[in-house]
Amino acid sequence: MTETLLPVNQAVVSIAPDKLLGFQRQVSGIEDLTFLTFGEPGFDTPAVVKEATIDAINNNRSHYGNSQGEPGVRKAILGYMKDRYDLDYPSIDNVVVTVGVTEAMQSIFKTLIAKGEGLLIPEPAYGSYFASLSLADGVAVPIDTAKNKFKLTPALVDEALAQATVPVRAILLNYPNNPTGVTYSKAELEELAACFKKHQIWVISDEIYSELTYAHDHYSIGKLLPEQTLVVNGLSKSHAMTGYRFGFILGPASVMQYIQKVHGSLTYSVPTFIEDGAETALQMTRAELDYMKESYQDRRDFAKQALEDLGFDVVDPEGAFYLFAKIPADFGTDGWTFAEKLAEEGKVAVIPGAAFSHFKEANAYIRISYATAQDQLEIGFAKLRDYIEKAR
Ligand code: PLP
Repeated sequence: MTETLLPVNQAVVSIAPDKLLGFQRQVSGIEDLTFLTFGEPGFDTPAVVKEATIDAINNNRSHYGNSQGEPGVRKAILGYMKDRYDLDYPSIDNVVVTVGVTEAMQSIFKTLIAKGEGLLIPEPAYGSYFASLSLADGVAVPIDTAKNKFKLTPALVDEALAQATVPVRAILLNYPNNPTGVTYSKAELEELAACFKKHQIWVISDEIYSELTYAHDHYSIGKLLPEQTLVVNGLSKSHAMTGYRFGFILGPASVMQYIQKVHGSLTYSVPTFIEDGAETALQMTRAELDYMKESYQDRRDFAKQALEDLGFDVVDPEGAFYLFAKIPADFGTDGWTFAEKLAEEGKVAVIPGAAFSHFKEANAYIRISYATAQDQLEIGFAKLRDYIEKAR
């Protein structure tokens, strides 16, 4: 056998290790941990969706389908985006169905960003973007939104572009945001859209939490800047369908044809029976899904109040199902140390804020997910309270 195998691609080697999993492995007694870490809805997939998927399998919907997405499900996506966000895309050619938002990002980055080119990423941000960008040989150009209460502004974009050392092709928006829960009003988006237009950069808008807004309805930037925006969404969070791996991209047909080429070569397509289940999910009304949102809202109110009672400063959670909380000053520790000790001694797992950002300020925070079922949330918070009372 040869001893001289070539090394694996350095882009893969340099992907930051999955901090969360690495962190969990280091913690002893993992079986006693209550996890307030995952962005995993604490609900089952709606019964009508399960039935439609089972019917599809029984009807042998298990052969190669249309690589861009079956026409029926793409039509359902157009209908859903019109119904929920008043988005008007002329045809199913404006849609590509992907294996979750995760694959959507890979396909978009590979399409828009050439080797060494930049993507503006307002931070804190969902960690998987960095790995996907690195696999596309793109360069992250981070923006520190902590400077403005975790809200992106045109001034922050102007500053980042003025200082960028690589040509910047696009900006990645994610609102409601993981991990902060921050979202944007129509007026704020109008200002941002004008800025993106001025700079002529693509907007990649990850709106996966769009159904989960608590202060006001979600407004898609795709409405303001359709010629320059790729709206990305999926069913993982809103419909409790993380395991279905169903996402989609909407954008100008001129660029969608290229995204489709990349998507086709990465995955060929989403499984046809999953698309059938998704088609049913996309036809569910908002009222039929409200039970989840109402429950998240209750969990959010409970968790926010509990954290504030313990002295945490919580970023106003307007959407998604996360709380980004600043560790009380009397602890005198950063997010990593706090999270590590809380797991070891208090048996509750949370994520250090630094896992979402290159900037120092984020390390004063932890992220808590309230997606988990109410009973687990209550157990987790009782343990958190005990730990804090003993540690103080
Ligand atoms: N985008 C954001 C902001 C997320 O928080 C997550 C999951 O936590 C995803 C995308 C993953 O989406 P999907 O399950 O559709 O791949």
